[in-house]
Amino acid sequence: MTDAALSTCLPAPVAAEPSPRRTSAAVRVGSGAGAVTIGGGSAIVVQSMTNTDTADIDATVAQVAALAQAGSELVRVTVDRSEAASAVPHIRDKLAKKGINVPLVGDFHYIGHKLLAEHPACGEALAKYRINPGNVGFREKKDRQFAAIVERAIRHGKAVRIGANWGSLDQELLTHLMEINAAAKAPLDARAVTREALARSALMAAQRAEDIGLARDRIVISAKVSTVQDLIAVYRMLAARADYALHLGLTEAGMGSKGVVASAAALGVLLQDGIGDTIRVSLTPEPGGDRTQEVRVAQEILQTMGFRIFAPLVAACPGCGRTTSTVFQELARDVQAHIRERINVWRQRYPGVETLNVAVMGCIVNGPGESKHADIGISLPGAGETPAAPVFIDGKKALTLRGDGIAQEFTRLVDDYVAKRYGGADGSKAAE
Ligand code: SF4
Repeated sequence: MTDAALSTCLPAPVAAEPSPRRTSAAVRVGSGAGAVTIGGGSAIVVQSMTNTDTADIDATVAQVAALAQAGSELVRVTVDRSEAASAVPHIRDKLAKKGINVPLVGDFHYIGHKLLAEHPACGEALAKYRINPGNVGFREKKDRQFAAIVERAIRHGKAVRIGANWGSLDQELLTHLMEINAAAKAPLDARAVTREALARSALMAAQRAEDIGLARDRIVISAKVSTVQDLIAVYRMLAARADYALHLGLTEAGMGSKGVVASAAALGVLLQDGIGDTIRVSLTPEPGGDRTQEVRVAQEILQTMGFRIFAPLVAACPGCGRTTSTVFQELARDVQAHIRERINVWRQRYPGVETLNVAVMGCIVNGPGESKHADIGISLPGAGETPAAPVFIDGKKALTLRGDGIAQEFTRLVDDYVAKRYGGADGSKAAE
């Protein structure tokens, strides 16, 4: 086919960009260096939650610090009893002494009104309060206790997340909607009514908070469920009905790959629709596992979708029958770990280093091509190939590595590349 013929039969380009971000109120959370803005077109905020006993001050400080250092821009802590509430100001102080300013969010259930009244220093130390409208109290106490928490937030100048949850849905509201539905000419199925109840629970509570006097730009809402399709449906309802800033997250996402996949699937669809101002990935860690994994996954969702850039990406082929040794997997793992270990230092020394692209490829089939697309890439020898690993820098073959020390040599080349490219004209800030 000639070039002219080819150009006449190229189809129109297919749109592959996310929808424009939904317009939402901008909610400022925290103050000073660590403050973040949720919504209003700001960058989508990554948040996380501790799983320590908040009353254990040292353990909670250590975990909040780890989450913040991993990149969490807000960290939520459980405030479930008096000991936890009285620990919060000490946690805030100890974090400040370590230079960690990440805003803390207090998660209140059932007795939040009482804890905030008895521990005003807790209310002051927190940057945001999370209230679940489904378990703030029962019958006549519900409105009174909800109002008490909102009034505290107003008094302390704090933001509030109204966080409805499928597992603790307001039963009075659900029963009421089920009754209306049962009397309707064309009743919806129970699942649709439950989705409606969840969305309505969050929106009604947000409206009530506004009626009490909490400004719209102090309110974030969420309505979490544990299945992907329900989450997408409920958030589309929320997005269509109000302009409150939205916190996205699949609750009880689960362990390991199941939790990662379900969260990425649900959040990916909504983010592509332009819905979502802050995200949390609720992974269940292995016993003794690393809590910061949820932060990395949230960042990777945002980065791979093109919304934000957090850390250099390592492109690695999946490997196949041509990668019969473990050298390829070990190198991909070591390079990723090396970058993760260095990134906090690199960020301070080398502005823009987050945009670095590294490729680690397993053989000659796609190795040289993919490596040329990266800033720095290596194509390892596959089965039956000459035991040599060409390294490509800025699209050109720069050298070939051989022998047992390929991994160490390649990570040193990555360090040198970072220092030269991001360390100023002369690359004088040597990589450490
Ligand atoms: S680059 Fe080579 S080793 Fe990697 S998946 Fe492709 S064919 Fe297999």
